[in-house]
Amino acid sequence: TDLALIRNFSIIAHIDHGKSTLADRLIQRTGGLTDREMTAQVLDNMDIEKERGITIKAQTVRLDYKASDGQTYELNLMDTPGHVDFAYEVSRSLAACEGALLVVDAAQGVEAQTLANVYQSIEHDHEIVPVINKIDLPAAEPEKVRAEIEDVIGLDASDAVMTSAKSGIGIDEVLEAIVRRIPPPKGDRAAPLEAMLVDSWYDPYLGVVILVRVVNGVLRKGAQIKFMIGGTEHLVDRVGCMRPKIEQLDELAAGEIGFITAQIKDITETRVGDTITTVKNGAAQPLPGFKEVQPVVFCGLFPVDAADFEKLRESISKLRLNDASFSFEMETSAALGFGFRCGFLGLLHLEIIQERLTREYDLDLITTAPSVVYEMHMRDGTVRHLHNPADMPDPNHIETIEEPWIEAVIYVPDEYLGSILKLCQDRRGIQKNLTYVGGRAQATYELPLNEVVFDFYDRLKSISRGYASFDYHQIGTREGDLVKMSILVNNEPVDALSMIVHRSAAEARGRHMCERLKDLIPRHLFKIPIQAAIGGKVIARETIAAMRKDVTAKCYGGDITRKKKLLEKQKEGKKRMREYGSVQIPQEAFIAALRMG
Ligand code: GDP
Ligand code: MG
Repeated sequence: TDLALIRNFSIIAHIDHGKSTLADRLIQRTGGLTDREMTAQVLDNMDIEKERGITIKAQTVRLDYKASDGQTYELNLMDTPGHVDFAYEVSRSLAACEGALLVVDAAQGVEAQTLANVYQSIEHDHEIVPVINKIDLPAAEPEKVRAEIEDVIGLDASDAVMTSAKSGIGIDEVLEAIVRRIPPPKGDRAAPLEAMLVDSWYDPYLGVVILVRVVNGVLRKGAQIKFMIGGTEHLVDRVGCMRPKIEQLDELAAGEIGFITAQIKDITETRVGDTITTVKNGAAQPLPGFKEVQPVVFCGLFPVDAADFEKLRESISKLRLNDASFSFEMETSAALGFGFRCGFLGLLHLEIIQERLTREYDLDLITTAPSVVYEMHMRDGTVRHLHNPADMPDPNHIETIEEPWIEAVIYVPDEYLGSILKLCQDRRGIQKNLTYVGGRAQATYELPLNEVVFDFYDRLKSISRGYASFDYHQIGTREGDLVKMSILVNNEPVDALSMIVHRSAAEARGRHMCERLKDLIPRHLFKIPIQAAIGGKVIARETIAAMRKDVTAKCYGGDITRKKKLLEKQKEGKKRMREYGSVQIPQEAFIAALRMG
C-alpha cells in the first residue's frame, strides 16, 4: 500500500469514556463486521476485560475506509491497555502509531488517566484529535469539556469532533478527521527490515502470535527472522492483519501494522519492544525504547484445599503461556502449605491473574499480603532483593534497606482534596506540586510503593466517592526505616502473616491485625495470646479468653443424624485447621486476616 494512504492511530481515553464503543462503531461503519457479527465490544474479548471495562492486551484492527476525497485508506486502529500497571505496553503501542483519538466523556470531562495517556501520546509526537463523546447524555457539557481540554491539556480543541458512539452520531466525522489530520507513516521499503514487537499472545492453534509495526523494510511470509534483543531466530509462517477476523497476507511493508506467527511456543522469547529483523542483510541496531519489564508486586498464592496444588501449578503454567510479565516459583508456608510466590506488574495485574485462576480454572485461593521488592544492603557489601517478608535476613547483618518509590499524579474535585492530601500524608507522601484547574485539583506526590500496594487505590476511590483518579510511575529506590513485623499466635510466628512495614506504621498495623485475629480465631480451653512483634519486641497484643466450659457438651444427646452431620463437618474443618502450639486456627481466619489488606 502507498504510504500516503495509511493511517496508524490509537484511541486514548479514561476508563468508561467510550473507547471500546467508538472502536466498535468505526469497525462497523467501515464494514469490518456485519451488523449480525457486531456483538458488543469486539476489541475487549476477555470476560474480565469486559466486566472491568479495561483493555488488558493491546488489540489491533485494520479498516478500509473510502474517504470523501474518493481514495480508499488503510486505517490501523491500535487499542491500548487501559491501566497504569501496563504503562510500558501502552508506550510501545503508542510508538507504533502517528496519531491518537483523545476520547473525553462530555459529562465527566478530563480525568487523570486521560492526562497520563495524552502526555505519553504527545511525547511520541502524535497528532491528537480530540473527540468529545456521549453528547447524547442529558448531563453532557461539550463546550465546558472543550474548554477543559484546552486549559488542562493545552491542546487546540476548536475542531474537536462531537460524537455519541452509542447512538452512532459523528462517526463519519471521526473517520474524516483521522484521514485529514493524522499524518501518514514514514518508512523506507527498500531498507533492511526493522519491525517493532508491539505485543504477543498465545493462541492454541497458531502458537505465539506477534503484533508488529514495520518501521523499515518488508516482513515477508517465509522469511528467516531474528529477535535482536531476545536473540532467537525463526521462520515466519504466517503474515496477516485483523479485520478483526484474521486475513492472511504475503507481506507487511514499512509503515504497516499486522501480525506474524513463526511456530513459537514460548512467549518469553517475544519481548515487547524488541526489534525483528531478517537474519540475512538485517538491521545493524535495534530500534530505541526497549525496556525489560519486571514484576514489582509479589504475593503468595495458595490453594485453600491442599489437594488442589497440582491443579494450581498447571493453571498458573497455562496462564503464564499468555503473559510473560508475571513470574512464579514454588513456596511453602507453615500456615498455608504448598503454593507459589508470584510477581506482577501491579495490583490490578495481580487481581486479574487471581480472578482468572478462580474463574477459568475453578480454584479456591488464598493470597498473602502483597509486597514490593526491597533492596537489602548487607553488611558484607552484597545486595539482596527480598520478594517475601518470610525470607528477611537477620537484621544484624543488614546495613540499610531501600524501598521502591513512585511519583503519583492524583486528579480530584476540590471538595475532596483535603482528605486526599491527608491520605497521602499518612502514607508517607511528599508533595511535589499542587495546581487547580476548573474546580479540580491536580496533586503530585512522591510515595513509597509499599504504602500504595495495600489499599491506597480503594481508599482514594472511597474518600472521593469514585471521583479521584490516579496514575503513577516508578522513580527508583530510597532508604527507609523498614522492619519485619511478625504475628505470633500462642507465641509462635505465623509466616504467612509477616510483613515488611515502615517503623512508624508498625504499631498501628500490628494492633489492627491482632484485633482482627482475635475476632477470627475461635476460643480454646486456655488463653491464647496474639502478638505483633518486631524482632523480640512485642508492639501490640491481644488475648483470646479461655472458654468457660466445654461447649461441645451441648452436642451430646442430640438425635443421631444431627450428630453424624456435626462429626462430618468437624472432619472437614480439621483438614483446614493449622496448629499453632496446640492452637487450632481455621484457615478462614488466615484468609480473612489477609483480606483486610
Ligand atoms: P471504555 O472503557 O473507554 O472502553 O468505554 P466503553 O466503550 O466500554 O463505554 C463505557 C460505557 O459508556 C458503556 O456502558 C457504553 O455503553 C457507554 N457509552 C459509550 N459511548 C457512549 C455514548 O456516546 N453515549 C452514552 N450515553 N453512553 C456511551
Ligand atoms: Mg474498553
